[in-house]
Amino acid sequence: MTPARTARARRARDIGLDVRAPKTVCEDRHCPFHGRLPLRGQVLEGTVVSLGMQRTAVVERTILHFVSKYERYEKRRRRYLAHAPPCLSPTVGHRVRIAETRPLSKLVSFCIVEDLGEAARHVRGEDLEARPERSAEAA
Ligand SMILES: [Zn+2]
Repeated sequence: MTPARTARARRARDIGLDVRAPKTVCEDRHCPFHGRLPLRGQVLEGTVVSLGMQRTAVVERTILHFVSKYERYEKRRRRYLAHAPPCLSPTVGHRVRIAETRPLSKLVSFCIVEDLGEAARHVRGEDLEARPERSAEAA
């Protein structure tokens, strides 16, 4: 790599999505901003519920699904394993935007691309282990 290209690689790449680029730089090759990870497909929003794995976060998304028989909504929940680049330094309880990418492992095919800050008030302060009735603002 030429010196000029190295210098360019330090700055965050344009990942093709309308997100704020991270302020810090990382060396992660699976970082969409500082590595070479292409993103394509779905872009979703969710809440980080666990960071127990190395560079992988559990992101939970709640949607409301209409059940016509009862004319009511039911809550549906899905957890995504998403790659967490160190430059974004994700935090448990924060809302994040995740973008689909190629499979990075058996269960990881999303990557966190933006930290949207702390989740809504009713989630903050709540025990994250026992949350049977998290609200569904991610509809
Ligand atoms: Zn990075």
